[in-house]
Amino acid sequence: MILLGWNPDRGDDPFGGYRSAGDEVTGAGFFRCRWPLPPRQATAGTEVWLFSQGGRDRGVLGHGRVASPPDPQPAGRGGAPGIVEFDALRPRGDSIPLDLLTLRVPGIAWEVNRPSRRIPAAAGPALRTLWAETSTPEEADPLLPPPGALPPGALAQTRANRYERDPSARRVCLAHHGTSCAVCGFSFEEAFGPPGRDFVHVHHLVPAARLGTDYELDPIADLVPLCPNCHSMAHRRLPDPYSPAELRALRSAAGFLPGTALSPEQLTAQADAVRILGAR
Ligand SMILES: [Zn+2]
Ligand SMILES: [Zn+2]
Repeated sequence: MILLGWNPDRGDDPFGGYRSAGDEVTGAGFFRCRWPLPPRQATAGTEVWLFSQGGRDRGVLGHGRVASPPDPQPAGRGGAPGIVEFDALRPRGDSIPLDLLTLRVPGIAWEVNRPSRRIPAAAGPALRTLWAETSTPEEADPLLPPPGALPPGALAQTRANRYERDPSARRVCLAHHGTSCAVCGFSFEEAFGPPGRDFVHVHHLVPAARLGTDYELDPIADLVPLCPNCHSMAHRRLPDPYSPAELRALRSAAGFLPGTALSPEQLTAQADAVRILGAR
């Protein structure tokens, strides 16, 4: 793990405007920029935490990963530039404050007077818990994993989520497709009553790799309602998620465990189900 030191009061601006970088994280799911990194410790996927050294705001302000490590050239003071991909940047003034860090994640010299420094990976779990506890409700989206919980290969998943979380696109999608899962047919409203209304996830069908810069979302053709179980299964395949048709095929192929024998009652029940529901 690497701690990135940033002193906004000194006029350092690796972000090209911190606020717009934060907007990019909200919209696109990530923000990339160059950052001097310790060459030997920074490998692709290494977790980074942003520490703000500002006078009135000292603490952990952001999270990300090393997207590409620095060239193994002789490093200058503070390291050679690599590329860092942030997946969370809190508004300035909203950091995990220094005193709380010292109390809850002890044994680490938090102040960083250089652009980057290695910190022990053992501090990760406590830091992540503290980050989740101090998150605002919008940040603590129960549909999204906490920062650092996903393996680096799963980053493609968070990139498609901007379309899955767009409220107006979601409305159009659900108005057209309904609120039952397009794979298994589960309805939260049927199962849980009013609190379940509209809880279903919306899944973006277009793989992240095929999104050009001129891509425009079609909420009816490109989005589909999925229950959280089927949605998680869809994203189990990377980088291209399983399509709803593939998931339906997987489900019907897995209808019984190979090697198990069905009882006559189970066979009758299956035949009844096919007759009553029709082959869908
Ligand atoms: Zn489902
Ligand atoms: Zn999805």
